[in-house]
Amino acid sequence: MHELGIVFEIQKRVSAVAEENGLALSDIAQVVVEVGEASTIVPRYLKECWPAATDGTEMESAELVVELIVARVSCKKCGTVYEYLKNDRKCPNCGAWECVMVSGQEFNIKEIAVFEEGED
Ligand SMILES: [Zn+2]
Repeated sequence: MHELGIVFEIQKRVSAVAEENGLALSDIAQVVVEVGEASTIVPRYLKECWPAATDGTEMESAELVVELIVARVSCKKCGTVYEYLKNDRKCPNCGAWECVMVSGQEFNIKEIAVFEEGED
């Protein structure tokens, strides 16, 4: 399970972004990450690791939200773009197996939300 390492990586990147923008880590309410369906990251593990990794840090009140990006591929034969896992990995148009990954391997920090002014 490498999710804990990924969680630390998220913390590191969020800290860098916060610093660049003059934000205090304790002001961060929510961190939204995008994870591709075909990446090796398991969103559930990521969410499970988050509280353990942030406990006792300035980021402990921040919530982690994981958005899954559907794996899409483009058929090498006919160019059809289709959902890879839903179509049994083969092209629904021509039945070919050869394809190029279009999306689904992402791992991005999409959004960092801060607590509203005056909110506890
Ligand atoms: Zn095809």
